[in-house]
Amino acid sequence: MNRVSIQTVHLEAIVDHARACLPAECCGILIGLPVGEQPPTSTADESLQVSEVHPVRNIASADQSNHYKIDPLDHLRLQRTARERGLRILGFYHSHPQGPAEPSIEDMRRPWAGYAYLVIAPGHNANNGSPPAISLHTAPDNMTANQRHSPTPPSPGPWHVRCWEWNDTQGLFTEIPLRVADATT
Ligand SMILES: [Zn+2]
Repeated sequence: MNRVSIQTVHLEAIVDHARACLPAECCGILIGLPVGEQPPTSTADESLQVSEVHPVRNIASADQSNHYKIDPLDHLRLQRTARERGLRILGFYHSHPQGPAEPSIEDMRRPWAGYAYLVIAPGHNANNGSPPAISLHTAPDNMTANQRHSPTPPSPGPWHVRCWEWNDTQGLFTEIPLRVADATT
């Protein structure tokens, strides 16, 4: 995929969910469709437009402050209801209460290629009860979680949101540009 578009209202829903689950990781499913005038020739050309965000339960049996597991039943249920409406599962989100907004070693145990992985992490003021502020970080090109010199996200807001895709060939996560695409009225 070459980019993921999401609306502010969805980012706010994700942050609200992450706050509510603290100190545990939250998780959820992103639903929508590829966009573009032409059908992509390969998944590498796809731009994904998130149109729904579905919080699901974290059923990890390990320490939930640094593990998450999406209930397979929720996954199947949302896959079915998405298909019924001509949509599909585009990816998943989860939080890192202890940061950063990058895939952890744990996340590399079971990644699926072709899906967007949104990772969100609180900044220092995430717990102070103020309205969620969100900081999007977009890598210039092919930034990977393995690169030690990846720039720290700018921090105007207390939550950082970054988007990643698993690259099966290289065996690593690559950062995908994340854009806020709010409907214009
Ligand atoms: Zn993680």
